[in-house]
Amino acid sequence: MPFDSLGLAPALVQAAAESGYAAPTAIQAAAIPAILQGRDVRGSAQTGSGKTAAFSLPLLQRLAAEPAQAPRRVRALVLVPTRELAAQVGETMRSLAQHLPERLKIAIAFGGVSINPQMMSLRGGADIVVATPGRLLDLVDHNALKLGAVSMLVLDEADRLFDLGFAEELGRILALLPAQRQNLLFSATFPPAIQALADGTLRDPAVIDV
Ligand code: AMP
Repeated sequence: MPFDSLGLAPALVQAAAESGYAAPTAIQAAAIPAILQGRDVRGSAQTGSGKTAAFSLPLLQRLAAEPAQAPRRVRALVLVPTRELAAQVGETMRSLAQHLPERLKIAIAFGGVSINPQMMSLRGGADIVVATPGRLLDLVDHNALKLGAVSMLVLDEADRLFDLGFAEELGRILALLPAQRQNLLFSATFPPAIQALADGTLRDPAVIDV
């Protein structure tokens, strides 16, 4: 199945091709149409499955289709467990977004480094924030960003978010988000705590197991 049969905009199909993606991986073929339809997704997927592009491509398309906002408000929040993953997911999204006529601003934030440059980069707002949970809350506490306009939430590597002790931060963040939103949860494993998180967060999800 070719990439251009999934309902993606030509600018995104072109970026996927330039990234060297010849054909969609299994999780991409299943998740992209469901996310484009606006459905919640519960994805069971390992690193290396292509899950980053599986949520990034349709997320970018949905945001690009909305009217531009001035000033920019955060409309998509991607939570990841580590700084490496934040950088990697953010860079992948920027690369996949590069041909879209709508210029989406993608901010990356993680702990362990000074908060000031991240606060500066959020001046003027951002459309998408890719962040680790603790630093995201620090930025909220510093009034560097607001979460009241988030319409898409991605929990990436949810099992590692819990393993690394982010359960409490996650609960605080979820409480700051609008109730009406699309939720995408990806995890390699689904122990009871992650299943409970999925049950509490996802509404009638498309369940994808690859
Ligand atoms: P991920 O599972 O998101 O960490 O992706 C693993 C790797 O697969 C990354 O290096 C991607 O660039 C690559 N990748 C993602 N989708 C595809 C695809 N459809 N075809 C070939 N490579 C891909």
